[in-house]
Amino acid sequence: MTDIKKLTIKDTIKAFKEKEFSSEELRREFLKSIKKENKELNAYLSVFEKEALNEKNDGVFSGVPCAVKDNILIEDTICTAGSKILGNYVSTYDATVIKKLREAGAVFLGKTNLDEFAMGSSTENSAFGPTKNPHDLTRVPGGSSGGSAAAVAAGLAVFALGSDTGGSIRFPASFCGVVGLKPTYGRVSRRGLMAMASSLDQIGTLTKNVYDAALVLNIIAGRDEFDSTTVMGKVPDYTDGIDKSIKGLKIGVPKEYFGEGLDDEVKNSINKAISKLQNLGAEIIDISLPHSEYALAAYYIIMPCEASANLARYDGIKYGFSEAGKVNNLLDVYLGSRGNGFGEEARRRIMLGTYALSAGYYDAYYRKAQQIRTLVKNDFDEAFKKVDVIIGPTAPTVAFKLGEKTADPLEMYLSDIYTVAINLAGVPAISIPCGFINKLPVGLQIIGRHFDEATILRVGHNFENN
Ligand code: GLN
Repeated sequence: MTDIKKLTIKDTIKAFKEKEFSSEELRREFLKSIKKENKELNAYLSVFEKEALNEKNDGVFSGVPCAVKDNILIEDTICTAGSKILGNYVSTYDATVIKKLREAGAVFLGKTNLDEFAMGSSTENSAFGPTKNPHDLTRVPGGSSGGSAAAVAAGLAVFALGSDTGGSIRFPASFCGVVGLKPTYGRVSRRGLMAMASSLDQIGTLTKNVYDAALVLNIIAGRDEFDSTTVMGKVPDYTDGIDKSIKGLKIGVPKEYFGEGLDDEVKNSINKAISKLQNLGAEIIDISLPHSEYALAAYYIIMPCEASANLARYDGIKYGFSEAGKVNNLLDVYLGSRGNGFGEEARRRIMLGTYALSAGYYDAYYRKAQQIRTLVKNDFDEAFKKVDVIIGPTAPTVAFKLGEKTADPLEMYLSDIYTVAINLAGVPAISIPCGFINKLPVGLQIIGRHFDEATILRVGHNFENN
């Protein structure tokens, strides 16, 4: 049998067609590899042995095995969000993206590890232990979709779904050497994604190449009557024109993404990628996104504010973990269940958000952050008058060591310096591998106009194939 670890979606469909192996055989192989390798990697939190072998649906993805971040609901299966508070929570319905993939015939192998409620950049905030980076087991896979990125990188799934609120798809894609796409806000339904910060969250893909990202986006994108933030209108076929040359395309390079904090070797790698795009005929233009330096601070106000509201529902009464049986008044149910159910980072952000939203502080923090958000978005609007896409690094460094940044949350937040502005502006972006430093992958980030996933996919595909 072919090396199943390297299989792309396209290869898989072709192999089924040519009867090289059946979907059943492939699924068994994947389950075998997961059994063998997951103990060390901890990419999967749960594996659907029976379900995976029994599902069968005819469609374009018929029989293609994938992994799903454990904050996206799959009916009748446990969905933990990486939190003890939801350790035994069983999903009551399929998220819209799951429904669509199921109808297309995809097979779900299991649910992948994440930072608790997607809060983090390393997957070390999971209540179920960290995931390790398949390229170096002493390092983090990035986060928060670290389980999904590691599963794809280690060849334990053909592709995976993740969620991205401030970089959680692109960042682990960069650290694990896979392709991570965060679509435009409103392109993909969030129904059935456990909310962290609703105005920033977006479901996207982790794949082995750019073409596969286009294939998955074709299936999951589109209007959903259950998510009023999804946009109306026809979804294009994202594989259409993906091969078209990038000759004459205008690529902006923002000076703010190459300043202090960017590792020299990563910078070198990105500069090489820029030259390569230039050789492919693109016009490279220096640009500025002047409010970039405020994006991280604004994100780390807005995100906790929204999270504090969204996470209020986990109160020891409606869902999951509860201390109700141990105490004898309502306040102690709340305090005990939330205090012992949530991990440290979730509690930190709930407190930060609640503080920033409280009377007297709202104007100073939340309103200010929202004003900055508008300025950040305007920066992108201005830049996209001059250029078609914007490129830069996804992360300031390659994968760091497990434990390296856990003692200092601010240090961890700084990792998100190049990814959060994209969520604040709501534009799409993709991270693609562009080289290695001491065997550790480097990610190139390509940012596009609202709803212009097609162009970033085209640039990524051209880069990858040359
Ligand atoms: N690392 C960022 C954070 O901790 C982004 C998380 C995400 O995109 N879900 O908030």
